[in-house]
Amino acid sequence: MRKQIVAGNWKMNMTFPDGINLINTINKNSNTLKNVQLIVAPPYIFLNETVNLLKETNFGIAAQNCSEHEKGAFTGEISTQMLKSVELQYVILGHSERRAYFKETDEIVNAKIKQCLNNGLIPIVCCGEVLKERENNEHFSVVSKQIKGMFEGITADEFKSIIIAYEPVWAIGTGKTASPEQAQEMHHFIRETLQNSYGSEIAQNLSILYGGSCKPSNAKELFANPDVDGGLIGGASLVADDFIAIANSF
Ligand code: PEP
Repeated sequence: MRKQIVAGNWKMNMTFPDGINLINTINKNSNTLKNVQLIVAPPYIFLNETVNLLKETNFGIAAQNCSEHEKGAFTGEISTQMLKSVELQYVILGHSERRAYFKETDEIVNAKIKQCLNNGLIPIVCCGEVLKERENNEHFSVVSKQIKGMFEGITADEFKSIIIAYEPVWAIGTGKTASPEQAQEMHHFIRETLQNSYGSEIAQNLSILYGGSCKPSNAKELFANPDVDGGLIGGASLVADDFIAIANSF
């Protein structure tokens, strides 16, 4: 059975006290959840305290980024070795905001994935098309190209620990959500594409999350699709009740 996952990407939101409060509330309200892996991705400087607060729980904790370099003179950067040393398990990579504002390419994401895998971290790798690409009916070729570039040189054995998030860029933070049919169609396409490279067992065990204005009111119909294994949640992950309600939507 594939893992069902709901991951909250806080982005650059929350002060430290507000963030701690949010973690504590989510933790307190999560005891009704069954068979869902919850992951939180607060900003870097809250991670250490998040690890301490969630030590005795089943929560996963993710960074929102990492360096593509191993170590050295890269002022302001955070390495995967550092993340591992504070007991993190996951790293979100290839988010469309990183691509758009920080000029991250598939090649850079590929280097970051390799750093994660070298240090025992699980990458949550994002892909997805912009509105113009969907309107031009290019969404499958765009996602296919992203997948090819990001997973270049990743072996089948390494691929077993990867999680993918399909996030149509036109749905991120816009209030527009992909329809359940659009999500299922693309998730199925991603699984099929990876099945061709890595074989059926790995593709069938791969968790593919949907991201893009997912909220309590639409999570149920999105998660009901056979190839949608959960969500990567932005805005709604900042409201404890909404995040828990989404996680309760399977
Ligand atoms: C995201 O940024 O990964 C995301 C899905 O954001 P939102 O849920 O706010 O659209």
